[in-house]
Amino acid sequence: MSPERQADVIVLGAGIVGVSVALHLQERGRSVLLVDRGEPGAETSHGNAGLIERSSVIPYAFPRDLPTLAAFASNRSIAVRYRLGALLRMAPWLARYWWNSAPDRLDRSGRAILPLIERCIDEHQRWAKAAGTEALMRGEGWIELYRNHRSLQRAAEAAKELAAHGLAYDLLDEATLRTREPGLLPGAVAGAVHWRDPVTVSDPGAVTRAYATLFTERGGRLLRADADSLQHDDAGWRLSVDAEEWRAPEAVVALGPWSNDLCKRLGYRFPLSFKRGYHMHYAVAEGAVPQHPLCDVQAGFVLSRMERGIRLTTGIELAGRDEPSDSWQLDQAERVARRLMPLGPRLDAEPWRGARPCLPDMLPIIGRAPRHRSLWFAFGHAHHGFTLGPVTGRLLADAMTNQPTFCDLGPFAADRF
Ligand SMILES: Cc1cc2nc3c(=O)[nH]c(=O)nc-3n(C[C@H](O)[C@H](O)[C@H](O)COP(=O)(O)OP(=O)(O)OC[C@H]3O[C@@H](n4cnc5c(N)ncnc54)[C@H](O)[C@@H]3O)c2cc1C
Repeated sequence: MSPERQADVIVLGAGIVGVSVALHLQERGRSVLLVDRGEPGAETSHGNAGLIERSSVIPYAFPRDLPTLAAFASNRSIAVRYRLGALLRMAPWLARYWWNSAPDRLDRSGRAILPLIERCIDEHQRWAKAAGTEALMRGEGWIELYRNHRSLQRAAEAAKELAAHGLAYDLLDEATLRTREPGLLPGAVAGAVHWRDPVTVSDPGAVTRAYATLFTERGGRLLRADADSLQHDDAGWRLSVDAEEWRAPEAVVALGPWSNDLCKRLGYRFPLSFKRGYHMHYAVAEGAVPQHPLCDVQAGFVLSRMERGIRLTTGIELAGRDEPSDSWQLDQAERVARRLMPLGPRLDAEPWRGARPCLPDMLPIIGRAPRHRSLWFAFGHAHHGFTLGPVTGRLLADAMTNQPTFCDLGPFAADRF
């Protein structure tokens, strides 16, 4: 018989969400075993654009205007690309996403997630200070680029509508933009909106790893194991880790895009789908470096200065989580990016690919499992998982330790599906 080890909670998945849940539980006096089949922060939490998106007060909705829908339907849009087979399989999910994107329902989802968005920077800064990653954070906001005056005008009107949220932003004409972004090529864009509240990190994977190191330095256990070996019995949860068997009265599923694999085995069916994305790093050319993350709104990609080089992160690909990569979207985005700013050669042998784990009402699942009182969920953070990881950790840990939560957990409940 394998030797038995005991913890209060097993947290499955060491992406930004799982690591943050583990840290918060530890702060509340719980002994935590954090497990991942790989290195912490090596998957989706590594490959993203590094934005801590304080200005994203409206979730990314399904477009409802005909010109945008027609552009996406053509499958020639760089911002959103689909595989026909995946689109057909995703049709019921997309219909729910569309339904939830109606103005009143979108407003409801936006109001639900707002208390988390409002706290996202403070919660990251707290861990960053303790983990020594403050040098990787830049508080300069990010810039949305518009290629013509009409789209810039529409963006200005949309930004004004967010006035109630008190977000700080500047509307920039081309000349002012070029003072903030001297590397931009002349005539490439008509102007921009500079959102000043967000913070960005120059290596999201390293930040997640450093938070995981903070957890182990504070006495937490971080081990390699496959969540698939999780078993439930009368005494709680069991997990095989090498030659040992770990037991805990409670478990948390924070497996990002892989969460449904385990949930299905435990009898849950959640409408978790994927918006995939790619990234590539480029060498600096002619001294041109983005001073802020730059989002080309029309082509849906972000260019940002990272530790490894200039990272181009693509928009949305609707495809099965594990379907092979397709280089079209990245190639096209690169072509557009090179017209915005000089870029040197590619630095990675292959593009990185990841999947944003998405639920059709644009809200994550955070809270207790409906049929196992000792099981908890924290996944489905879609476009904003890096932003919301630390604040999700606080929310879930408070709920698990019967402390007052800073907002209502109802909108995030698993039994809404
Ligand atoms: C292209 C792109 C750009 C993005 N840009 C941003 C951005 O700028 N800002 C932002 O806030 N968000 C962004 N996101 C979204 C964000 O990256 C994700 O929402 C977030 O990283 C999800 O974190 P997670 O901890 O839930 O998942 P992950 O980071 O994927 O962690 C899940 C962990 O579970 C582990 N795991 C899986 N299966 C098993 C198993 N069977 N056993 C053990 N371990 C297992 C994995 O190894 C992994 O470490 C972006 C996403 C993409 C794809």
